[in-house]
Amino acid sequence: MIEMKQYRFWFCVGSQDLYGEECLNHVAEHARIMTDRINASGLLPFPLVLKPTLLTSGMIRATLNAANADENCAGVITWMHTFSPAKSWIAGLKELRKPLLHLLTQFNREIPYDSIDMDFMNENQSAHGDREFGHVVTRLGMERKLIAGYWEDEKVLTRIASWMRTAVGVVESRGIRVMRMADNMRNVAVTEGDKVEAQQVFGWEVDAYPSSEIAKAVRDVSQSDVNALVDEYYERYTILLDGRDPGEFRRHVAVQAQIELGLERFLKEKNYHAVVTHFDDLEGLQQLPGLAIQRLEEKGYGFGAEGDWKTAAMVRLMKLMSAGVKDAKGTSMLEDYTYNLVPGKEGILQAHMLEICPSLADGEIAIRCQPLSMGRREDPARLVFTSKTGPGIAASLIDLGTRFRLVIQEVDCKKNERPMPRLPVATAFWTPRPDFYTGIEAWVLTGGAHHSSFSFDLSAEQMADWAAYMGVEAVVLDQNTTMQGLKRDLALGRLLYR
Ligand code: MN
Repeated sequence: MIEMKQYRFWFCVGSQDLYGEECLNHVAEHARIMTDRINASGLLPFPLVLKPTLLTSGMIRATLNAANADENCAGVITWMHTFSPAKSWIAGLKELRKPLLHLLTQFNREIPYDSIDMDFMNENQSAHGDREFGHVVTRLGMERKLIAGYWEDEKVLTRIASWMRTAVGVVESRGIRVMRMADNMRNVAVTEGDKVEAQQVFGWEVDAYPSSEIAKAVRDVSQSDVNALVDEYYERYTILLDGRDPGEFRRHVAVQAQIELGLERFLKEKNYHAVVTHFDDLEGLQQLPGLAIQRLEEKGYGFGAEGDWKTAAMVRLMKLMSAGVKDAKGTSMLEDYTYNLVPGKEGILQAHMLEICPSLADGEIAIRCQPLSMGRREDPARLVFTSKTGPGIAASLIDLGTRFRLVIQEVDCKKNERPMPRLPVATAFWTPRPDFYTGIEAWVLTGGAHHSSFSFDLSAEQMADWAAYMGVEAVVLDQNTTMQGLKRDLALGRLLYR
């Protein structure tokens, strides 16, 4: 389901025609060597495409507009080999709509102490050129990423790789379409929001359908397709009957298989990439979609519960941004449920009624079928597992009435201390940073929701950069967060974003 364009990033090298033909030949040659070696490093998720050296305002404007028009171009990386007078960049930069990265590097690593002369220095003056270019980008008030370091260093290339995923998130965000099944859960505040504003700011299209229409698509799935998928489930997952009759259990599982197939066909046919459900509005469906949603999330669909379309879009976005990460550990919607307040073992149990993405699973995944205790449908089948461990980020996009804020918290996922045999849902357990108590106070002060879009495979820096390109406030809660500093940041945010 994660089908993306063959994205590329344009490498645009700045210079000018003051230095003569020979110098410009060297500039082009250096840029070609850099592009080839960076692409050959295997460290970037998307290739660099070298563009002709940019010398004049006309060339720069034409090139950056060509970047805008190229659907496969996900961003522009600039590097100033020499001094590129930055008034030449103004017209082009003002029209650039793709994410911009300014790479602060130089072709030669070391000053050639014995041979350096004025010719060498005029040809290799990135420090000089970087400042001229950077000044104009700052003056234009443009969002851009700065990465400084030697271009062949793994650390630099890893940071570029990480930024490329942010840029893909910026470009892909405009194509995210969320299908709402019915409306939001009654009386709940944080799952609401301004959908028109979300389309203006993030590009998301958010549409509702009556659940009866989706139920019809589910009913249209043939019994043989359902049986084949149930067989696949039984092969892949452990079956935990919990004392239920095997035939009755399988029939409950088949309901979810039919929902998975019908819902996926409906989403594909209408070109949606994320879905929300609401346990209290399931006209025509036998069960709340549980296992079905978990499987769709694993395939790359976004999901939000109780009509939470913002979380659904964010989960989809984060799945796009982390697509193809090596040894990925997973991305899912999660919900803060229950605290553990035992000194030294503090944490928050993350779960939901059903719909946690199995990409987070560590080890065995079982199917269980248990009462829901909410809504008015039969006991739904669901996938049950515990999550992997390690650092991750929880993000929560909130609507403050006049604007959006993205809350991003670094968290540390840990193993549950003991098994919870009577809890029939997938779980994660984490301690928020900077520490449990400050972390939960900070999240609540910032207004973060009880739903989050969580990923092991993205960083707070990537999400904060994404928010910056979108022009919305990002509040990062990490090891450096103090309540005093946070209050000041939120006060500043109230002045800056309105
Ligand atoms: Mn919920």
